[in-house]
Amino acid sequence: MPDSQNPDNPLDNPEAEDSAPSAAELEAAGQNSMFGGAQDTVPQPVAAPAPAPQASSQPYRVLARKYRPQTFSQLIGQEPMVRTLANAIERDRLAHAFLMTGVRGVGKTSTARLIAKALNCIGPDGQGGPTIDPCGQCEPCTAIAEGRHIDVIEMDAASHTGVDDVREIIEAVRYAAVSARYKIYIIDEVHMLSRNAFNALLKTLEEPPAHVKFLFATTEVDKLPVTVLSRTQRFDLRRIPTELLQSHFGWVCGEEGVEAEEEALHMIAAAAEGSVRDGLSILDQAIAHADLGGEGKVTAERVRDMLGLTDKSAQRRLLGTVLDGDAKALLAGIDEQYALGVEPLALLRGLMDLVHRITVAQIGGGEPDAPTSEERAALADWAGRLTAGQLHRLWQLLLKGYDEVRQAPDPLVSAQMALLRVLHAADLPDPGKLAKKLEHLAETGVQAAPAASGETSSPAPSAALDWKGIVERIDQAGHLRVAQLMRDWIRVETLEDGKLAYALTDELSEDPSPELRDVLLKVTGRRWEVIKLDVGGAPSLRELEEIAHAEAEAKMRAHPLVEATFAAFPDAELADGDNTPASGDRAWSKRA
Ligand SMILES: [Zn+2]
Repeated sequence: MPDSQNPDNPLDNPEAEDSAPSAAELEAAGQNSMFGGAQDTVPQPVAAPAPAPQASSQPYRVLARKYRPQTFSQLIGQEPMVRTLANAIERDRLAHAFLMTGVRGVGKTSTARLIAKALNCIGPDGQGGPTIDPCGQCEPCTAIAEGRHIDVIEMDAASHTGVDDVREIIEAVRYAAVSARYKIYIIDEVHMLSRNAFNALLKTLEEPPAHVKFLFATTEVDKLPVTVLSRTQRFDLRRIPTELLQSHFGWVCGEEGVEAEEEALHMIAAAAEGSVRDGLSILDQAIAHADLGGEGKVTAERVRDMLGLTDKSAQRRLLGTVLDGDAKALLAGIDEQYALGVEPLALLRGLMDLVHRITVAQIGGGEPDAPTSEERAALADWAGRLTAGQLHRLWQLLLKGYDEVRQAPDPLVSAQMALLRVLHAADLPDPGKLAKKLEHLAETGVQAAPAASGETSSPAPSAALDWKGIVERIDQAGHLRVAQLMRDWIRVETLEDGKLAYALTDELSEDPSPELRDVLLKVTGRRWEVIKLDVGGAPSLRELEEIAHAEAEAKMRAHPLVEATFAAFPDAELADGDNTPASGDRAWSKRA
């Protein structure tokens, strides 16, 4: 049973018979059997099936191949499947056909080979039966591990899609296995078979000879005919959690004698997105980079450089600059990614992916589904802060940008322009809301702000009070938050010496009157009567700015070029050059 075999961690069990162990390594493996369980098959130095030469004199083998799991206990992250399979073997209730599904690199074909071994293993003494713990030493085990077993036929349906290929199999199925207990057909990417090929296969699947097993693997189970699905026992291989990948890669580094920072391993594991194989090929590159760099150590810094945008945190930083309205940082971020070799199109794609995941997180509520805790936290934060409308708008803008970048003669410039547009549009108030506001103002009659008469030098305001001037003085006195409140939210109804009556542009979470009274006293040196009305008042200073902006925009829209742009991109908004954030909404949270 795999469970009794690895009390601690399946990854602590490194008897990869494929990895040409040196004497020292074998000794280490022997020590490891203390964790791995005594009955485990630690290869004996003499009986070790691996070729003799030392690792150093061996041609370089990619990690994904070198560390292909040779026992079920080395197959990480698939314990439920292994348990089911162990039960089936124990009770001798094996299906004729198995289907392994899952994303690329989770171990589908490795599992198929392991099943082939499990079914055909005869044990070191040649007397054993089918077992979930294939010995790895007998002739069938070693032959299957090396891909040279005559009765285990592997076929890649991606390159053999035709009915003739299948017919060949069906012909051969009739003959008994040459040397093994079972004749096993492993068909990878089985969904690629043509309809005729499936039909031909189906007849055999309906009444397979007792000595034949089919092991199918696919990334796209939806493409399989129901008739095939219904005749197979299905195993869904899961994406491997980041933490498990990280510790696995740590173990591999240990085996390879390579030093690696935990953060680096974490980034590689996160970038692998659940796939051991993808992760190991990234690790391969990282080790090569580390060797080139001379320090011989896999560092977080180097991995970050190497991964570019596959580093999810770079995507998040970039989206952060967009939402913060920080154009300078946005351009710097784009340049940085470009310098790292990230294609502008991939950049847009990554941001779209991120916005999509935020949207899904928002709809789902609860803990977002993401491989790292950093990512989960960021997704949850954005899902909480952004409205569904804003997310929709972001998506539209990015999609439009993506199309532009794809067609642009200079994708980098196009990406810069597209993302700047997203930045400005994300910064403006919601178009629907703005339109409503303008409508409302038109109905109530837009009045000018109370008389503007310049700065009053006297500390006590005169009868002809200047609201804008007062706000500016409050701002200059350092009461920035209150000044902003006054600019953005206060519609002045009456402004007299010592008296302010106002309404709010929108409901605030608390009545700002006490704070206004307090600041007015401090700045003007006298007590104020501050009255909050339910309705009324002239537009706030910010609303006046928006009206001016809308007028300017209306003028600009009349320009034929701009008109054409809007026709092509109705969701767009004009953004003025200065990048002052429309801070009112951010500083004063509304309780809607
Ligand atoms: Zn065996």
